[in-house]
Amino acid sequence: MKDNTSKPRSPRTLAVHAGTRRSQYGEVSEAMFLTQGFVYETAEAAEARFLDATREEFIYARYGNPTVAMFEDRIAALEGTEDAFATASGMAAVNGALVSMLAAGDHVVAARALFGSCLYILEEVLPRYGVEVTLVDGTDLEAWREAIRADTKVVFFESISNPALEVIDIAAVSALGHAVGATVICDNVFATPTFSRAVELGVDVVIYSTTKHIDGQGRCLGGVICGTQEFVRKTAEPYLKHTGAAMSPFNAWIMLKGLETLDLRVRAQADTALRLAQRLEGHGKLARILHPHLDTHPQAALARSQMERGGTVLAIDLAGGKDAAFRFLNALEIVVISNNLGDAKSIATHPATTTHQRLPDDQKAALGITPGLIRLSIGLEDADDLIADVLDALAVA
Ligand SMILES: *Cc1c(COP(=O)(O)O)cnc(C)c1O
Repeated sequence: MKDNTSKPRSPRTLAVHAGTRRSQYGEVSEAMFLTQGFVYETAEAAEARFLDATREEFIYARYGNPTVAMFEDRIAALEGTEDAFATASGMAAVNGALVSMLAAGDHVVAARALFGSCLYILEEVLPRYGVEVTLVDGTDLEAWREAIRADTKVVFFESISNPALEVIDIAAVSALGHAVGATVICDNVFATPTFSRAVELGVDVVIYSTTKHIDGQGRCLGGVICGTQEFVRKTAEPYLKHTGAAMSPFNAWIMLKGLETLDLRVRAQADTALRLAQRLEGHGKLARILHPHLDTHPQAALARSQMERGGTVLAIDLAGGKDAAFRFLNALEIVVISNNLGDAKSIATHPATTTHQRLPDDQKAALGITPGLIRLSIGLEDADDLIADVLDALAVA
């Protein structure tokens, strides 16, 4: 934006303009700088840049690139953080944020209900390097209070858990972490940048898998770490740039264009998700229906206070178990069977046999991943068409 700093702008304006860097040609749409390297005018200029590069001076695309920088500045403006670092995937962001700030002997407290790969980092990777990890029931504030110690370095959670859609009390958990000086890191995928109030509620570092709603059309992997300049540039960046987690300029361009339409898309998707959830309440084939803003969700009040809408995902639990769930999946005509979320296309996932397959049965049960559970990520199709597709498939199940 020409007047980037003159007035506060609303998120929809920032999502279209923030971070834009124009070349000498004055292009309207953001340029895709598909270059690994950058030419220095003189040997002295190369020396100076390696000594101390500004944010507008680039060395190598693993360190930074103008298209990637545009995406980083735009998402930081949208999230309300000082800075951001874009990564090759959501998992590169989660791993980078954690590993860059932890050392042997450190203690981490995390919610147990996590995306499978996040759980792998916390349960398998970090302990191998001497980091102690305590997992708690994220919905139980007493459990957080008991687990967080004077020497806890990091508090980690997904603001809304996958796939059972448990809601974390962001302000309360952040306050418990800050009381001992811990850094509070939130994987905020299900909240989306549009509905996120994570920073305002006290989170220090917000992470997105941009593979989900930010791309929004299922094309590219990406991730981003949003935080203070100090955290992003002094803690995360040195680790990320030397270990090769960089987002490609092409993917950054896709994500930039995705941010322009993010607000419109996720509002439409969230509206349809809530309509479908309300239509399915009390359906005879369902043992449970989970959506953060349904009156029947045990944390509906908390979810409403933290998020303007309930998100784009709901979960249904078929009373007939796995057989009924599979009959339902195979009868869907519009909704595709896959495992992404936040896509323009509606997607149905059976977590017990796919994304969470490797978990032992007792852990699945503890996380609410029953044989009949199906996660529905709602896309941009017509709401009435989607509702009919789901109802028809339920009739067959
Ligand atoms: C998808 C997802 C990730 C991982 O992102 P990738 O881009 O697939 O690496 C991490 N956390 C949550 C909550 C996710 O939904």
